Amino acid sequence: LCPDIERVTINVSKPNITIVGAGLVGSLLAVMLAKRGYRVTIYEKRPDLRESAMSAGRSINLALAARGIGALTEAGLYPAVEPLLIPMRGRMLHSVDGELEFHPYGQRPEEVIYSVSRGELNRMMMTAAESAETSGSVEIQFEASCQSIDFDQNKMEIVDQSTGDSRFADFDILIGTDGAGSAVRKSLVQATGTECSVEFLDHQYKELCIPAGADGKHQIEREALHIWPRGGFMLIALPNLDGSYTVTLFLNGKSPDNTGGSGTDCFESLSEPGQIEPFFQREFSDATKLIPSLAEEFAANPTGPLGTVRCKQWSHRRVLILGDASHAIVPFHGQGMNAGFEDCSELMKHLDTTDGDWDQAIPAFAASRPRHADAIADMALENYVTMRDSVRDPGFRLKKQVGFALERAHPDRFIPRYSMVMFHRIPYADVFARGATQEQLLNEVTAGVDDIDDVDLKRAGELVLNRLNPI
Ligand code: FAD
Repeated sequence: LCPDIERVTINVSKPNITIVGAGLVGSLLAVMLAKRGYRVTIYEKRPDLRESAMSAGRSINLALAARGIGALTEAGLYPAVEPLLIPMRGRMLHSVDGELEFHPYGQRPEEVIYSVSRGELNRMMMTAAESAETSGSVEIQFEASCQSIDFDQNKMEIVDQSTGDSRFADFDILIGTDGAGSAVRKSLVQATGTECSVEFLDHQYKELCIPAGADGKHQIEREALHIWPRGGFMLIALPNLDGSYTVTLFLNGKSPDNTGGSGTDCFESLSEPGQIEPFFQREFSDATKLIPSLAEEFAANPTGPLGTVRCKQWSHRRVLILGDASHAIVPFHGQGMNAGFEDCSELMKHLDTTDGDWDQAIPAFAASRPRHADAIADMALENYVTMRDSVRDPGFRLKKQVGFALERAHPDRFIPRYSMVMFHRIPYADVFARGATQEQLLNEVTAGVDDIDDVDLKRAGELVLNRLNPI
């Protein structure tokens, strides 16, 4: 899987690394550290997911983009990931009456994002991490849940999930990649009193499935991210390799006070089986035909919360938190995993430039990274409105066209914000700032205009040169 890892030499003078959580970020981090000669132990709360068969068509998928691909490439894993990917070239919008409209994400052939099964990706990366075990460098202990951390003694309490027994493990360096509900973060907040907030959206999500057709093929366009934007809520679908789609409904949990647009539709108003079909028929009739056991699936699948974690301090002494543990974000920019992978890449840069000095690398990383996490958290929240509503607006489409024209004319200065986030590795906070300047500029040059032929592109170009420095 990862030939470089097979040749890893463990350096006994290096500290041992303890990782909590063998999810997407923890597994990637283990591979990167193993490549640098570290001995790594991962404690994972759940049983080994490679030993449980994943039912066909139930794979929950994610969008992988440039930042994630960059980090996977640095770890030597991208060649093994590529066969798991389906390119999504743009958004396929589905209107209420079933009309389709395709909006490309970028304007170059390589400007696509990729649908990938979370389970398959995680399995592959765990195996890659353990392949370093041939040199004895990575061990994953399953059903071992971190309970609490003693920062003075460098000890962690672990509970065996199968027996309930508790034990203590010493650590040199501990990295918490234990997801949005992180136990490591909770211990860190308790020990330091640092500011940490978890803000939930009123909206929640539920996953459903469009199975493959009778011929085993995809029943709707394969290379697109499908969206049924309905103003106050939306349905989306991402393709899986087996011909199915993972479909996600994003909707208010309870009836909103403001009943404009989407009325009173909410998960609470869909609690009876008889309420689901009529709602889907009314809003997503073309998708409804493709979900054979809609009401059963709707009742059986959980409704998940959507939230943003913002934590001021990401490290304390020899403990650091990364990925969703330090900055879970809402999924509307498809960047949670990508940002977590970029964390790993950034941490490695600090480690490499300090010649492996963790006492310098941890504080330097923890000081520089949170503002970028805050920026993508804000952009992800903004993108919900874009996906469920603005994409239908002719003004939004005009600005997208003008943005592409300006990018063609000034590729070193103007890159649409979506492209900066998804196809580039420009730091998120810089993207956020440049994006605001660009949006202002686009608003000015499209004011009172309906058609790109009527936009003064010469003036727009001058504004680009005046207001935006080369990237
Ligand atoms: P997780 O994937 O949550 O992994 C944490 C691991 O830690 C798990 O294995 C867990 O079992 C383990 N663990 C938890 N507690 C403990 C403990 N106490 N002790 C030991 N182990 C523990 N991101 C994208 O980039 N693109 C997308 O398109 C996208 N779509 C999404 C859609 C939805 C509906 C949601 C909810 C999220 C989406 N994300 C997306 C976000 C992405 O799923 C997360 O950002 C990513 O999974 C974070 O990885 P992680 O390793 O930090 O955390």
